[in-house]
Amino acid sequence: MNATGAVIDGHAVEVRNGETILDAARRAGVDIPTLCYTHGLRPEGGCRVCLVEIAGAGRPAAACHTPIQLGMEIRTATPQIEALRHDILALQLAAGEPGAVHRYAGTELGNLLARYQVAGSPAEAGRDGPSVDATHPYLRFDPSICITCRRCLHACEEIQGQFVYGIADRGAGARLIFGHDERFADSACTACGACVDRCPTGAVTDADRFDGMAAESRTRSVCGYCGVGCRIEVEAKAGRVLRIRGVETAVVNRGHLCAKGRYAHAWHHSRDRLTRPLVRENGELKPIAWDEAMALLVDRLRAIRDQHGPNALGVFTSSRSTNEAAYLLQKLFRTAIGTNNVDCCARVCHSSTALALQTVTGTGAATASYADIDSAGCVVVAGANPTEAHPVLGARIKQVVLRGARLVVIDPRRIELADYADLHLQLLPGSNVALFNALAKVLIEEDLIQHGYLEERVEGLEEFRRFVDGVSLDESARATGVSVARIREAARLLGGSGRVLFVHGLGLTELTQGTASVMALSNLGMLTGSIGWPGAGMLPLRGQNNVQGNADMGSMPNLLTGYQPLDDPEVRARVERQWGVAPPRERGLTIPEMIDAARRGDIRALWIQGEDVVQSDPYERHVIEALAALDFLVVQEMFLSETARYAHLVLPAAGALEQEGTFTNGERRIQLVRPAVPPPGDARPDWRVIRDAAAAMGASARYESPADVMDEIAEVAPQLFGGVSYRRLEGDGLQWPCPSPEHPGTATLHAGKFLRGKGRLVAIPYRPSPEHGVEGFPYTLVTGRVLEHYNVGTMTRRTPNRRLVPADVLEIHPEDALREGIDEGAEVIVESRWGCVRTAARRSRRVAPGTLFLSFHFPESHTNRLTGPHVDPDSKCPQYKATAVRLQVA
Ligand code: SF4
Repeated sequence: MNATGAVIDGHAVEVRNGETILDAARRAGVDIPTLCYTHGLRPEGGCRVCLVEIAGAGRPAAACHTPIQLGMEIRTATPQIEALRHDILALQLAAGEPGAVHRYAGTELGNLLARYQVAGSPAEAGRDGPSVDATHPYLRFDPSICITCRRCLHACEEIQGQFVYGIADRGAGARLIFGHDERFADSACTACGACVDRCPTGAVTDADRFDGMAAESRTRSVCGYCGVGCRIEVEAKAGRVLRIRGVETAVVNRGHLCAKGRYAHAWHHSRDRLTRPLVRENGELKPIAWDEAMALLVDRLRAIRDQHGPNALGVFTSSRSTNEAAYLLQKLFRTAIGTNNVDCCARVCHSSTALALQTVTGTGAATASYADIDSAGCVVVAGANPTEAHPVLGARIKQVVLRGARLVVIDPRRIELADYADLHLQLLPGSNVALFNALAKVLIEEDLIQHGYLEERVEGLEEFRRFVDGVSLDESARATGVSVARIREAARLLGGSGRVLFVHGLGLTELTQGTASVMALSNLGMLTGSIGWPGAGMLPLRGQNNVQGNADMGSMPNLLTGYQPLDDPEVRARVERQWGVAPPRERGLTIPEMIDAARRGDIRALWIQGEDVVQSDPYERHVIEALAALDFLVVQEMFLSETARYAHLVLPAAGALEQEGTFTNGERRIQLVRPAVPPPGDARPDWRVIRDAAAAMGASARYESPADVMDEIAEVAPQLFGGVSYRRLEGDGLQWPCPSPEHPGTATLHAGKFLRGKGRLVAIPYRPSPEHGVEGFPYTLVTGRVLEHYNVGTMTRRTPNRRLVPADVLEIHPEDALREGIDEGAEVIVESRWGCVRTAARRSRRVAPGTLFLSFHFPESHTNRLTGPHVDPDSKCPQYKATAVRLQVA
């Protein structure tokens, strides 16, 4: 007996609290075979393959769920145990279909059968049984080789939180089912693939596993869809992506991916990829050689600058591309052209967040990290739909709630997370400020605030108290549609939960009170003492894969790289040293301002990199008129987008899977992006095209690789990036600020002290938006995303995701549908003061009566014909999230 530890097969092992025999054995390097067990998930303990002998115990025990205890003496591979395992596996095989043994080859079960020399009955090898469910474009299920070990079921529940799988019938007749015994395609499966990674037999598998191709290369990179920034491993052969898996060790996603990141990669070899530069001649776009294209680009930009001045030009840099490309493009415009007319799509999504958080904390980015979700005691999700738009984080929020964390969802739609929430505050679109002020009032009135934190770290409490004294809860209830009782209940939940993690999205920012909404939410963060601690803080979910990085790089008209002010003499001197020329002093124009200026004829040339503004920006008609008025429009794109159709010059671009550089995700983590496949035809990586154009225009551009560009970024903005280099970005990358080569990066911002000194409480009165109460337009339209598609659908529409969701659909509450005489699936005409679209309608209780929802993934829908010209007066972020509309049956 070992009194201080335990002994496994003669190895002394330390006994650690909470460990099982299997955990301890694996730590000691002792191999115990398993079948229904999978690391990281709850042990099922059903298959008995991991049986071991414990001295003094009457019978063998399953190692996967038996706790290790002091003094235990364990033997894992006695002849009796090995014989038992053989018999268990033989029984398993006998229960399956004849011939199944051949189809287990190469799987975990197949390896165990070979190890224990268990032979199957002779039958034809490798044929699918007739009952295979191949209804899903990405997943397939073969019940004839399913052993009902439940690993898929545990993965679905414990990773994705989706509960798709069940077991029907009992004993030898037990079988795996989807939902209410539905087909795979009809089930609630979100196609995250977590079940596939855990299935030990190949019964649940990727449809693409059967393409028979072995990979030639495996490349580690970062998903090119949303701002979560999941790390991926891409298998490729002959220039084609075969399959994508999550990186198990990645801190961002721990091996998990969503349907887009894992499966939606077919866009890269789509036949309509742009492979050559195109020039407009006699109204048509015609192929042209790269050297001619570059000469034309440089000549036209120079000519317009010389004739109309540098401020007659502008650039929209791409949040789909790399940090290095964004940095080089803003630098080109600030140096070779001489204008600060530089902006990016952060303007039309999180510019309100950046401005609000900069004002109240001193930094315009997430104060928290994704890992904080796991340790949060209370999560507020406001104006975000993470399970569809940021699915890997959405699953993580579900998991922490299933483990007991409190959840408050604030959203005009009953999003999926509302089903998991303690409270869903279904407010009227655009009324966030009224609701947050009311919550703040109750927190103060009922003394649910963190006095110590506020006294030590926050300014403006007395003024804020006076402000909320004047807030009427009854008026707030009228403005928001949320009852006073519910407001009180929510405030008590927040005030009584300790620190809170506030997760927000575009439902707050894309409003005329966008900046105000985020500030009002931050007030709740300050009052509950939540900012600057692990497991709490502000976590805005960034939309595009590199929207954070794009703004970080200086793609803003009023700030240089690293959010440095244009007029700071020290900054200007440092930038001039690196660039050889000082940036212009005068603040440039934002995207909406550039569109307006182009419409007026003040902007004569635009370079739009990887952004389909015709489809994605509000007030489509106005955008088209502006683009059509330009003397020169250059578009750098992968496809002939709606915007590229108005271009004078189109430059074919490389996609996220085809270029080298870095992306920065929503938790400020800079990660390496590597090319897994080459770009098609003559398409070139963005950074290289921009570098060559800059060199041709006489700007400093001596970079051999994107790593050289990052070295310059570190010199230009040392407070945020001084310690960042490609060498240090291997693996999980670095979270900025990372000011020196020794600095480990920053997971929690404002720990101990706000970057601006003290945090600020800001009194912000609620103001209804110009789309509230518009006579003759009784409904309020909210726009947003669905799980299967991404942004304007450029990539996902060119994948089998189109089979999953083939079109945008208008969600309407059944009562409204009844009143309007709209049947399920009927065509309706939706009309706002700014435009009109035709779409199919779906009855849904996810929206409240009076509210409609429409996604914007398909160009045929023209959703942004409906959205209008209103912008937040401070951030200039357009209002997408509340538009007054009326309906008519088509
Ligand atoms: Fe890609 Fe976002 Fe999905 Fe992760 S959650 S796989 S980053 S789309």
